[in-house]
Amino acid sequence: MAPNLIGEQAVVIGAGMAGLTAAGALADSFDQVVVLERDSLTEGPAYRVGTPQARHVHALLVSGQRALSELFPGFEQDLARAGAVPLRGGLDVRIERPGYDPFPQRDLGWLSYALSRPTIERVVRRRVESRANTTLRQRCRVQEVLATPDGAAVTGVRYENVGGASGTIAADLVVDASGRGALTLALLQSIGRPLPEETTIGIDLGYVTCVFAVPDDAPTDWKGVRTFGHAPQNSRRGLMLPLEGNRWMATIGGRNGDVPPGEPEGFLTYARALRTPTIYTAISHAKRLDGVARYGFPESVRRHFERLDVFPSGLLPIGDAICRFNPVYGQGMSVAAQEACLLQRLLQRLGGDSNPIAGLAPAFFAEVQPLIETPWSVAILDFVFPDTRGKRPADFETTLKFGAALIRLAAEDPAVHKLTAEVQNLLKPRSVYLDPALMQRALAVMAEE
Ligand SMILES: Cc1cc2nc3c(=O)[nH]c(=O)nc-3n(C[C@H](O)[C@H](O)[C@H](O)COP(=O)(O)OP(=O)(O)OC[C@H]3O[C@@H](n4cnc5c(N)ncnc54)[C@H](O)[C@@H]3O)c2cc1C
Repeated sequence: MAPNLIGEQAVVIGAGMAGLTAAGALADSFDQVVVLERDSLTEGPAYRVGTPQARHVHALLVSGQRALSELFPGFEQDLARAGAVPLRGGLDVRIERPGYDPFPQRDLGWLSYALSRPTIERVVRRRVESRANTTLRQRCRVQEVLATPDGAAVTGVRYENVGGASGTIAADLVVDASGRGALTLALLQSIGRPLPEETTIGIDLGYVTCVFAVPDDAPTDWKGVRTFGHAPQNSRRGLMLPLEGNRWMATIGGRNGDVPPGEPEGFLTYARALRTPTIYTAISHAKRLDGVARYGFPESVRRHFERLDVFPSGLLPIGDAICRFNPVYGQGMSVAAQEACLLQRLLQRLGGDSNPIAGLAPAFFAEVQPLIETPWSVAILDFVFPDTRGKRPADFETTLKFGAALIRLAAEDPAVHKLTAEVQNLLKPRSVYLDPALMQRALAVMAEE
């Protein structure tokens, strides 16, 4: 084994965004990286069974874009070449919030890209496949993570391919990027170890999506629209973003049964009843290009692997397997890419240790917490709806009032607008709001209202 390597073979379960970015992170530290994916993967971008969420709007936050560029230099040019639509941050997406219709549109100084989830994934997949030591095996379902008899260390995986033949692959490290993380939990159970505690936020969100051809008379003052309902009375919201191929993808939805029907007429009727008419007016005469896709999302889930005293060496859950966020905030892919960057840094840092793989999961579970903290604090805002299930944070009313004050300051002051957009894009942690001068201004606004 070359001196810069920490293991001979790493296996990644799942070729979604977490699996692909993790594979990119592992390639410099292992002799071979093998990604096992249960779905068929086509050469072009295509919807597939294993990622049903891909039929819905997938916004890539600026933090995710930057993390992907760190893992795959030149990634933004790849996106542009794939037809992604450039969006000037703060300017090209019209935001409609109660009291701000629209929120001031200002150029915040960065470019993001809008494109479909299958195309983002294909762009990343090509980068992963271009690594000489990385192999992607499709139609290969992992059935079990294998461990030593005492459960102390993982040794590989057992899989079944499309013909029903099963086999095993040895691995020094198994990364569980299967989304649900069921294989990690099954292993912990089978070796008699405790499962991680979970924090859940029950939201019962219903999503419906349609794709349209952008009409010739489309508005010119925005490329995308985000419409918020008036919480807590109205949970309905909509997000329409451009896609490659001169298309719009419109996702609309609400909570607890107030969800759109899965047929075109019902979609339009629901869109017409959003708090503002912008999305409905834009799509009402646009040509629909596809059927109506639905998705139900019951709850955000955070698994506290960091609280476990012992964890098998050589196993690492990542991405949604650790934390699934309410998708309306568009955070999952970006957090997965940031986690992959953390993994890459840890592999480099631990490389000199006598047993780097043993130290990997504990270090990862500890250091991923600051990455998860800010997006989770956004998911917590779902407690604005009284029927949200879970433990409502203490003094949540103050959190909401503080948030409303920040929105007002952001509308008035471009510097605060930029700061809040940086936090929403996960470029800065939420703790920047603790700045004493900003706190004082927010408290003054709160006192007025
Ligand atoms: C409706 C919806 C909308 C969303 N919108 C956004 C958005 O706008 N922006 C954003 O950043 N995020 C969004 N997300 C979240 C985002 O899709 C995920 O957080 C992100 O893709 C990371 O997921 P993952 O790779 O961990 O898991 P997944 O995307 O679930 O991928 C898991 C992969 O593992 C494979 N797999 C599973 N089990 C096995 C097995 N046993 N063997 C082999 N392969 C297996 C699956 O086929 C799949 O390819 C949305 C999610 C939903 C549900």
